[in-house]
Amino acid sequence: MSAHDPFQRVTAIVDLGAVERNCALLAGKLSAGTELCAVVKADGYGHGMGECAEAALRGGATRLAVATATEAFELRERVGAQVPIFVMGALTGAELDVALQARAELTVWTAEFLTELAERAGMFGFRPRIHVKYDTGMGRLGEREPFGVGRLADAAAADERIELAGVWTHFATADEDDESYLREQLERFREVALPIQERHPEITLHAANSAATLRGPEFHFGMVRCGVAVYGLDPFGRDPRPLGLEPALSLHTYVADVKRFHAGESAGYGRTWKAPGDVWVAVLPTGYGDGFRRGLSNACDVLIRGRRYPLVGTISMDNLTVDLGPETEVVPGEPAVLIGEQDGEEVNAEQLAESLGTINYEITCGLSARVPRAFRG
Ligand SMILES: *Cc1c(COP(=O)(O)O)cnc(C)c1O
Repeated sequence: MSAHDPFQRVTAIVDLGAVERNCALLAGKLSAGTELCAVVKADGYGHGMGECAEAALRGGATRLAVATATEAFELRERVGAQVPIFVMGALTGAELDVALQARAELTVWTAEFLTELAERAGMFGFRPRIHVKYDTGMGRLGEREPFGVGRLADAAAADERIELAGVWTHFATADEDDESYLREQLERFREVALPIQERHPEITLHAANSAATLRGPEFHFGMVRCGVAVYGLDPFGRDPRPLGLEPALSLHTYVADVKRFHAGESAGYGRTWKAPGDVWVAVLPTGYGDGFRRGLSNACDVLIRGRRYPLVGTISMDNLTVDLGPETEVVPGEPAVLIGEQDGEEVNAEQLAESLGTINYEITCGLSARVPRAFRG
């Protein structure tokens, strides 16, 4: 049992070795010539963008992707000039300048934006690499019209001021058991993207997120864009360990107090839990202000001394309470684990997500800035 860090109320420990090994595992599934692009948007899904980007590169990723211009800018300062950074999201005019300053590769899906980009590129003195996005059925960003995609790609390739780097799409249901819609999207993409690649052989086609990457090589093309699996989270929402993925993030706090409750006494706002008999209750100084969601009130377990104990009562902004049962050896100052392993027991992000009716992505992304990230490995 690792001792609680006496200086930290709550800490997210991020195992960068796990990030590295998860990337090596993903890269090992790709055929020669297919690149692994590690998606590190939203502060590396809450794990720390810069540190995780470096670990991903050590593990075999050759490219990085983010959602926004500011993310690209921060990442460029961290990883240096050589690593390709791809901005997947929409950009305002001001953001376009920031992304160009970061020498990022950009997404295009309208002729207007292609023109604006080409005009602005001149002021930056280099040829930006652009990826034309085809909306094959996600129903978000991207050109929906197959011929429009071809026209945009040809226009980009013909424009001296920019470079056509890729054609890409994004799947809506790669994480679902039923593959029919996924296969429809794949077919639509192949029909449009393969002829474009015949005309422009140097470009990269890409479509797969983590779930599609794990499904098989027919989704891989020249590059895969993996996010959630890089962090050891299961894209299918189950236990990541059977896939060989290692959860990189664990969330640690401690027992600030232990007190005796008599039958009927309540813990927390709204008195949503009352002691069923005489029990001991631990108070842990972590709450929804740290991103440990209030929806987990009376709905998850906490690890103390390598045992699972039920979280009881309503989670406050800064505190939560745990039922230790009628007898306990737990004393104030002991470490407690909210996400992660302790002496062979584990509470993972997938279990918390299920209790909340959400996905594991939101569990780690939701940890607030108040939680310090400590890096290991
Ligand atoms: C976030 C994102 C990804 C990564 O998806 P995961 O499911 O986390 O692997 C890939 N592509 C796009 C366009 C994204 O927005």
